[in-house]
Amino acid sequence: MAGSPLHTFRVRTEAREELREVTSLVADTIAAKGGSGLATIFVPHTSAGVTINENADRDVARDMLLWLQRLVPNSDEFRHMEGNSDAHIKTTLVGNSVTIPYTGGRLRLGTWQGIYLCEFDGPRTRTVELFLP
Ligand code: ZN
Repeated sequence: MAGSPLHTFRVRTEAREELREVTSLVADTIAAKGGSGLATIFVPHTSAGVTINENADRDVARDMLLWLQRLVPNSDEFRHMEGNSDAHIKTTLVGNSVTIPYTGGRLRLGTWQGIYLCEFDGPRTRTVELFLP
């Protein structure tokens, strides 16, 4: 949709838990639009979120997932009938949106920063929304 502030991407995840980098989806869209502003990346799910962290060493994403699993193991005490309360809690911990400034059609991410879709109950096809007002 030309001129629309909303860009929607579908991302297929491949594991129950996965940090999938989506930086290039966002960066390419902003490069095509140009200009400056604040980009909001929003993930409209209750068992998947979004975060910014290191993308140079893939082990950082692996270590973050490992520690989120230790922080929030699945539990017999959970009552939610879907059995995925751990995924809902992890989603709340990482959050569902990030805001990133951009200038001259370029995200102002730090050298080592990447944007990650955080899957906690996959594999599924997820939606990532990018708002460029
Ligand atoms: Zn659920």
